[in-house]
Amino acid sequence: MARYTGSVCRQCRREGAKLFLKGDKCYSPKCTFNLRPAPPGQHGQARQRKMSEYGVQLREKQKCRRVYGVLETQFRSYYEKASNMRGVTGENLLSLLERRLDNVVYRLGLGASRAQARQIVLHEHIRVNGKKVNIASFLVKSGDVITLRERSKEIGHFKALKEGTGRIIPKWLTLDAENLTAKVETLPRREDVDLTINEQLIVEYYSR
Ligand code: SF4
Repeated sequence: MARYTGSVCRQCRREGAKLFLKGDKCYSPKCTFNLRPAPPGQHGQARQRKMSEYGVQLREKQKCRRVYGVLETQFRSYYEKASNMRGVTGENLLSLLERRLDNVVYRLGLGASRAQARQIVLHEHIRVNGKKVNIASFLVKSGDVITLRERSKEIGHFKALKEGTGRIIPKWLTLDAENLTAKVETLPRREDVDLTINEQLIVEYYSR
């Protein structure tokens, strides 16, 4: 499975926005973007030229891709799937990305970042409708029940979830913290996605 292995904070500096890819560090004064917000590279400090229309669309697409930790080929396939679905393509795209199992695990408060949530999935801690699923890109559907593997429930940081995750759970998911069980109530809609992403620019990028 291919994945990005470079500097994570560099991605925030490139996009000119905090993407919250590193968990707790992102909320601390040590956040690299707070300390060095200029774009990376030799000419990062140089005066920034006005971006072309294409540049704006490209940056929006890259930002979205990086938030969800998806590589280009897979991101494009999400776009193609979204454009073949009924409804608004940009909204379908965000809905598909939200439905990824690693994102769902992150939204439920397991893992400080989507990267950590992906590790939790890959390490086989998660069950969907009672079956082991260790594929981060698995798409959940309405009615799916997500649980932890029985022996994982005894692991300290999973147990701590019973006291609450401190994360706001989106309306399309419900969490029974006592039993460490979650349910997908409905498919996510645009208003359920709390990201400042202009999905229309991504559609324009791929429609060129
Ligand atoms: Fe981005 Fe988090 Fe790194 Fe800050 S600490 S630059 S928000 S990944």
